[in-house]
Amino acid sequence: MSVLQSVGATIKQLRAQVAALHAELPRNALVVWTAGNVSARVPGADLLVIKPSGVSYDDIRPENMVVTDLDANLVDGDLSPSSDTSAHAYVYKHLPQVGGVVHTHSTYATAWAARGEPIPCVLTMIADEFGGEIPVGPFALIGDDSIGRGIVATLRAHRSPAVLMRNHGVFTIGPNARAAVKAAVMCEDVARTVHIARQLGAPLPIRQSDVDALYDRYQNAYGQA
Ligand SMILES: [Zn+2]
Repeated sequence: MSVLQSVGATIKQLRAQVAALHAELPRNALVVWTAGNVSARVPGADLLVIKPSGVSYDDIRPENMVVTDLDANLVDGDLSPSSDTSAHAYVYKHLPQVGGVVHTHSTYATAWAARGEPIPCVLTMIADEFGGEIPVGPFALIGDDSIGRGIVATLRAHRSPAVLMRNHGVFTIGPNARAAVKAAVMCEDVARTVHIARQLGAPLPIRQSDVDALYDRYQNAYGQA
C-alpha cells in the first residue's frame, strides 16, 4: 500500500480543513488578491496539504488543495502548489512540533516587517499568545530554502509562533493549521494596536516576570478544560 493510500482518509479531512481555513484570511482582512496561504502537516507521513498557486479565495475547494512532500514536490493534486510551499515544507522538516503554517502580508504586521522592527511585548495579549516580542527574521529571496531557514532560525530562538520576515510579511506556526491561523489573526491585531499606541507616545513595557506569568497561564490554563 502506498503512503498516499495509508493516509488517504487523513488527507481527505485535511483538504477540507485547510480549504475552510483559507476563508479566515479574507474574513479577517489578512490578505488581498491571492497573497496568503495556509498549510497542514499530514500526520504519519512526510507530506503537507496547501493551497494551489494563484487560486482566488472564492474558488478554494477541498478538491483543489494540493499535497506535496517535505521538499515541496507535488504528490497529489491537479494544480501547482503555492509558490510559498518550499518555505512551509522547510518549517515542517525542521520543526517536528509544527502541524500548521500560515503566511500573509497582512498590512500592519508587514509594516513592522518593512521597518525590520520587532513588535514589542506591550500588551497582555502579546504576552499571552507570543510570550514576548514578535521577532523579525532575515531578508530572503523566494526560490530556494532561504525563507524557510530564516523562519526556523528565528522561531527557534523565541517563544513566539509568529515571525515578521524583513521587507516581506508574516509566517506563523501552530500545533495545527487552525492554531497557526489564530496566531496570524492575533499578530495583525496587536501590530495594529501597537502601531496606533505609538502615534501618541511610547507604549509601556511589561515586566519580564509578568510576561512569563501571563504566557504560562494562557498556554496552560486558559480556555475550557
Ligand atoms: Zn509572501
